[in-house]
Amino acid sequence: MSHWLAVTVTRRTPALLLALATATTLCAAPAVAAATPRTFSPGAPGAGDPYFPDMGNGGYDVQHYDLHLAFHPADHSITATTVITARATQNLSRFDLDLQGLKVGSVAVDGRSASFRRTGAQELVITPANGLLKGTYFTVTVRYGGVPKRIDDPALGTSGWITTKDGAIGLNQPFGAATYYPVNDTPKDKATYTQTVTVPRNLQVIANGQPSAVVKHGNQSTYRWTMNQPMASELASIAIGKYNVTRSTLTVGGRTLPNITAIGTSIDTAPGHDATFNATTARVVGWESSMYGAYPFSSTGGIIDDIGAGYALEVQGRPVYDQPDSTVDGDLLAHELGHQWFGDSVTPKTWADIWLNEGFATYSEWLWQERFRGIPVAASAKQAYDGEHDWSGKVASPGRDHIFDDLVYTRGALTLQALRLKIGDAAFFRLLRAWPTAHRYGNADTADFIAFTERLTGKNLNGFFHTWLYSAGKPSLPLPSNTLPSNSPTFDGPARTERLQVSGARHVTH
Ligand SMILES: [Zn+2]
Repeated sequence: MSHWLAVTVTRRTPALLLALATATTLCAAPAVAAATPRTFSPGAPGAGDPYFPDMGNGGYDVQHYDLHLAFHPADHSITATTVITARATQNLSRFDLDLQGLKVGSVAVDGRSASFRRTGAQELVITPANGLLKGTYFTVTVRYGGVPKRIDDPALGTSGWITTKDGAIGLNQPFGAATYYPVNDTPKDKATYTQTVTVPRNLQVIANGQPSAVVKHGNQSTYRWTMNQPMASELASIAIGKYNVTRSTLTVGGRTLPNITAIGTSIDTAPGHDATFNATTARVVGWESSMYGAYPFSSTGGIIDDIGAGYALEVQGRPVYDQPDSTVDGDLLAHELGHQWFGDSVTPKTWADIWLNEGFATYSEWLWQERFRGIPVAASAKQAYDGEHDWSGKVASPGRDHIFDDLVYTRGALTLQALRLKIGDAAFFRLLRAWPTAHRYGNADTADFIAFTERLTGKNLNGFFHTWLYSAGKPSLPLPSNTLPSNSPTFDGPARTERLQVSGARHVTH
């Protein structure tokens, strides 16, 4: 994909946009002169996901989202304008965006008014005044507003725009993005983002990436956050509320990154948690970089807040931890920050491959527990293996309602442990670094992972992966007899003395 190129293309001023529009016209000119008439056809209303056929669309590739959103706490409504820069991947007569609820006021394509209609669960069907030629860049400006809705899916839980005690937050996995902005809502179409959010002066806004200076005007404040690396819509987020924000920098791999962490003031009642949260985030990012290769993004951090969603989420560059208090849980940080490599930088092509995120993130927890809490990976694996009673599912084909099941997390991590035992520590830890490096900022699926692992090891692993990923039933796994201590020590921050457990052929360094 051309996303990396897109970064330079899309970080442009309106003047450049105009130039690009001119370039588009110039590109089109020879076509008009050609003898063969151009044919234009509609983009597909879905992106081909086996579990979520309505999600995403075809016919174009988004380069950049420029969100401008004002939040009105009195009635929880928003008024917004989203400008999308995209490249046509076919000659387009019309195309869809995904948008759930809300009222669309107007749509323009390349500055010209376009007709639109709403169909199905979330299709915003846009017909530009002129067809869009394959390969050309175009902008779509959607003005809209209303009260965004929260999604409570019976199988997949809460996502979308969630009202909190003192504001709101967008948590998009798997399909929440379309509740507050028009989007090509498929993990396959990553793009850069600028999110500009205006709120009453007593509230703050935290989003992905790096902040610009806050602009105060009257009783309002406008925040702007920019994510310069390609991001899947499921990993975008806007958090509005009252926060205690801690800013520091982190030097990792010779780069210095902003580390911005925040704890919701309503739960930030224990002194020192702010500093611990910030420092633990830095420590995890540094340690994981030493195993997984260069940290993929230009900033890091996290948000702890009482949201009521019931989970933590690997929001790109700044994970969100939904908690009733401000306790810093190192295991959880290791999981969500591990996702920055596995899920955020390398993103599955479809939701069927989510084990590629959760298996590695769970394994990150196990590695963290071994390195910093004295619990051997083999013990965590044994507990997971012995404790799992339902082996009826298929890890790499879990089914729509099971993408967040244990099957994907625990058995995903067990697959990695079994792989480690099969190929040896040296090849396994080489893989942990080489895989996210090879597919950095891109998309990959399970077949890619199997082929990559076979190339790296020179082994035929088809049978192995077939058993672990595509077959029901409990595979055999040689594990030591020792069990996890029943009262595991609680990680309580960087002040704690590290305890490095030596467990046989342990590998993790530093
Ligand atoms: Zn996860």
